[in-house]
Amino acid sequence: MSSNRFSDRTVLVTGGGSGIGRAIALAFAAEGARVVVAGRGRAALDETVALVRESGGTAFAEVADVTRADEVEALVQAVVDRFGSLDVAVNNAGVFRGGPLAELSEEDWRTVLDINVTGVFLAMTAEIRRMRTQPGGGSIVNVSSNLGRYRQVPGATAYSATKAAVTSLTRGTALEYIAEGVRINAVSPGASDTTMSLRAGETEAERAARMAARMKEESPLGRVSTTEEVAGAVLYLASDAAASFVGTDLVIDGGATL
Ligand code: NAP
Repeated sequence: MSSNRFSDRTVLVTGGGSGIGRAIALAFAAEGARVVVAGRGRAALDETVALVRESGGTAFAEVADVTRADEVEALVQAVVDRFGSLDVAVNNAGVFRGGPLAELSEEDWRTVLDINVTGVFLAMTAEIRRMRTQPGGGSIVNVSSNLGRYRQVPGATAYSATKAAVTSLTRGTALEYIAEGVRINAVSPGASDTTMSLRAGETEAERAARMAARMKEESPLGRVSTTEEVAGAVLYLASDAAASFVGTDLVIDGGATL
């Protein structure tokens, strides 16, 4: 049975042109939301919009770099100009830069910090400033990771540091803004079915074999999570049924952090 939990709601998804963000955009649209996807690459965003429209949903693309305050401000304004409100924001844009810390270049460090942390900071500040002025408030879901607050693996320390920061930003702001009607939560996926969880040169079949061979460490479930499974958790946290979820960070990793 299909539901319409988000009919008449406007949803912004950063990084909505691919992977988890695309699945989140499709899932919200399937439940009645008007969706705006944002990212740096126009072609990928347009593909998501086409997929939403093919299935009868409403979506628009806005090119924006989350590391640019002016572009993020303009993005939120464009959403409000088009639809009149910003009800749900999913801060999903992120990148991975790997390698043991002492081998990581300063450029990679600054890039991963800028996109994953400053990008979430800039998006949240623009979103909160809008949502707190709306009669219905709003809901923010940040896409963090099980790497960071919950788990460390060699070669992912810089990325983990950024995601621990996303989890911390989520919890701190949840406390700061719930009284003003802005409800803030996060999801922390483990390895998920996108190119980000592939090691350099690895195929999907090789990733599956790695997961199966190292089930205890990689995923006791024995496989990566699907992007639809991650999207399902995001929609739940953004929904009215989750009204008392405040500052929660849902781990979706097949038991890897247990
Ligand atoms: P992905 O397909 O590479 O998606 C990342 C998205 O972020 C892209 O659409 C990219 O679009 C966008 N993006 C990157 N830099 C940006 C910027 N400066 N401004 C605006 N958009 C930007 O990877 P994914 O796996 O779906 O990742 C989505 C989120 O899930 C990330 O935050 C990631 O850390 C998190 N995550 C993924 C996994 C996993 O195993 N896949 C596990 C845990 C957490 P453009 O390049 O066109 O801008």
